Amino acid sequence: MPNRIYVIQEQCTGCTACSKVCPVSCIDMVPRPEEDKAKGVKWPKLAVIGEDKCIFCGACVDTCNQLGDKAKKADIFHAIVMEKEVVETTGPALDPTAYKGVWCYAEVRHWQLQSTIYELLNVGRQLAGTLSEELSAILIGHNVADKAQELIEYGADKVYVMDHPIFENFIDEAYAAALTELIKQEKPNKLLMPASTIGRSFGSRVAIQANTGITADATELSIDPKTRMLNATRPSFGGNLMATILCEKHRPEMATVRPMAFARNPREAGRQGKILKVQFDPAKWNVKTKFVQYVPEENKQQDITTAEKIVAGGIGLGKADGFKLLEQLTDIIGGAIGASRAAVDKGWIPYRHQVGLTGRTVRPKLYIACGISGQIQHLAGMSSSEYIVAINKKADEPIMQLANLAVEGDLYDILPAVIKEIQNGK
Ligand code: FAD
Repeated sequence: MPNRIYVIQEQCTGCTACSKVCPVSCIDMVPRPEEDKAKGVKWPKLAVIGEDKCIFCGACVDTCNQLGDKAKKADIFHAIVMEKEVVETTGPALDPTAYKGVWCYAEVRHWQLQSTIYELLNVGRQLAGTLSEELSAILIGHNVADKAQELIEYGADKVYVMDHPIFENFIDEAYAAALTELIKQEKPNKLLMPASTIGRSFGSRVAIQANTGITADATELSIDPKTRMLNATRPSFGGNLMATILCEKHRPEMATVRPMAFARNPREAGRQGKILKVQFDPAKWNVKTKFVQYVPEENKQQDITTAEKIVAGGIGLGKADGFKLLEQLTDIIGGAIGASRAAVDKGWIPYRHQVGLTGRTVRPKLYIACGISGQIQHLAGMSSSEYIVAINKKADEPIMQLANLAVEGDLYDILPAVIKEIQNGK
C-alpha cells in the first residue's frame, strides 16, 4: 500500500500549526466546505495536504497531536492521519559485529592526494575513537604507493593500497569494482568519502554494489553510543531542515562528507602504521569504460574551497558589477571570490561562489566579507575561517560581531582605499 495522508475534516480547527511546521510547504488553509458547516463545524478554515508534494515526515501529525493532547478534548485536533508503507527487507539479518573499522577514501588526482583526506581522517579518528576501532585509509591509483606513509602520519592506523595502471585515470567502474571487492573481503564498519565530484560519483556506485546505504554531503558525523551506528547529518530541503540519516540494516554505513566541514587532522612526522598492498585481478571486473582524454577546465578562477584567501560580497555591493571591485583586490592579494546566497539569488555571480549552509563550506586563512550581514546560514559556511575582516555600513550586524577586524563604513569608500594602500606599499 502506498503512503497516504489525510485530514479528518471535523477535527481540524484550521489553526495553521501544521502548515507552519511543514518543511515542504504542502499544507494550505482553505475555506471550509458548506457540508461541514451544515454538520455544525464552526471553524471557518480547513487544512488541505498536497499529497504529491508531501514527504511523509510526520511533522504535521506530531504537531496536531500535541495540540490535541494539550487541549484534552477528543473532538478537536488529532486531525491528521498518516499511513506509511512498510518496506520489507529481504535476505538474512545482518550481524553488525562482523564489521569492524572506520575507513576513509583518500582521493588522488593527477598523483596528488586531495586535501579532503586530511579532513576525513580527522572526523574518522573521532568516530574510530568512540568505537575503539581502527582507522584506515584507502589509497587507489597508479604509482601512488609512496603516499601511504603520509596518510599514516595524518592519522591512519592502516593504509590499504591498490596500485595498478588501470587506476591511472579515474574511471568509476574500475574504482568502484576495486573498492567493493575490498569491502566484501575486509568488512569495514563505516566508510567515509569526500563529497567531491569523484567521491559522489564513485561512492554511490560502491554503495549499490556493496548493497548498503549512503548519506550524501554530510556536514556532521557522530556515533550513537548505544547502537554504535553512524549519525550522518546533512542540510535538507534547501537548508530548512538538518536531517540525520541512519543506515540500520546494512554495512558498511557510508557517507560522503562535505569538503571543509571538518578541520584537517594535524600531521605527526614518523608516525607508525600498517601498509597493506591489496592483491586483485582487474580482468575479473570486466571494465568497459575507456579513458579518452583529460581536458582541464578553462575557468581560471580559484575554487573557494581550496583558497587561502577569500574576498566575499553580498547585497551591500548593490549590483553585479560590485564583484569587479572585489576582483581588483584578489588580483593583488590572491585568493578567490565568495558570495552570499542573496547575491547569488540576484544572479550577480554563479552558485559555485556561494558560501554557507546551502553553498560551500570554507576555512581560509583570511575571509573578507564586504556588504554581507552575516545571517546564520552564511556564518555556517565561513565561521571557521582563521581571520575574518568585515566591511559593513552597520556596526551591529552579526558579521561585525564575529569579525576579528570590523570596519564600519561604505565598502565603496573603504575597498578602493585599501587597494590603493596595498598598491602603494608594493
Ligand atoms: P543582507 O542580509 O541584505 O545584508 C546586506 C549587508 O550589506 C547589510 O549588513 C548592510 O548593512 C550592508 N551594506 C549595504 N550597503 C553597504 C555598503 N555600501 N557598504 C558596506 N555595507 C553595506 N545565505 C548565504 O549567504 N549562504 C547560504 O548558504 C544560505 N543558505 C540559506 C538557506 C536557507 C534555508 C535560508 C532560509 C537562507 C539561506 N541563506 C543563505 C540566506 C541568508 O539567510 C541571508 O538572507 C543572506 O545570507 C543575506 O545575504 P547578504 O548578507 O548579502 O544580504
